[in-house]
Amino acid sequence: MSSRRTICVDCDEVLSDFMTPALHIIRKLGGPYLKRDEAVFWDVSLLLPNEPDEYGCNPRAAFMAEIGQYGWCSALKPLPDAADVIEALRSFGNVVCVTAPLEGSATWSHERLLWLKKHFGFDKKHVVLTNNKALVRGHVLADDGPHNCEDWGGGTAFLVARNHNAYETRFPRGSFSQFIDYAKQCVED
Ligand SMILES: [Mg+2]
Repeated sequence: MSSRRTICVDCDEVLSDFMTPALHIIRKLGGPYLKRDEAVFWDVSLLLPNEPDEYGCNPRAAFMAEIGQYGWCSALKPLPDAADVIEALRSFGNVVCVTAPLEGSATWSHERLLWLKKHFGFDKKHVVLTNNKALVRGHVLADDGPHNCEDWGGGTAFLVARNHNAYETRFPRGSFSQFIDYAKQCVED
């Protein structure tokens, strides 16, 4: 393991385009038609009611079940600029992907490990699957979820700018490319 400082990066909406296929399901289940840059919630399942409809189907539960199906996670597309950013970060830091498992899915975590290896070259020593990112030891985190930046401790968290976090002012915020300079400053301090 490198003695260089550890730079943590989230996966969904930082490395992967989670929103586009997720919003497609939302629409199919009767939710609003939104494009990726119009998403207003980090947790897009909140766009759907959490109670049974006239047919006894709970749309929010149906959404969670669909994204947890075999093959859904592995079919996500990498975001266009992400591979270049990861390469740049690796030139000065030990880059680790910190990503949450999907509760109730038997296949999500396995697919994510394979996906991170295939698209970004992360081996198993450079991936942490957890719902509690605050427990991960690292010098800086890039994440699109304000709750993750908050738990991380604030000072060294960087919010990757997406429409759903446009209201946030508590953290340094910018594109994933802009995170390169921020991370460099953090690991060299
Ligand atoms: Mg994310």
